[in-house]
Amino acid sequence: MTHTFTPEAQRLWDAVPPLQKTQILNNVWCGACRTVTTIVHYTGKVGGTDLVLEGECERCGGKVARLIENE
Ligand SMILES: [Zn+2]
Repeated sequence: MTHTFTPEAQRLWDAVPPLQKTQILNNVWCGACRTVTTIVHYTGKVGGTDLVLEGECERCGGKVARLIENE
């Protein structure tokens, strides 16, 4: 499975330590499930100065997104 990232988003994502990536991917709020879930089939883009992951909830398949602030 491939994840599509814009070049800028890929650069930001590459800078995130692997452990933190795992924590980010496994700590996404799903409004439909009303709980924290894992994001799957995600893509990455930059919104403002932040990295935005958009994908699907592993539990229900609904759309979820995760913002990673660019510090
Ligand atoms: Zn869900």
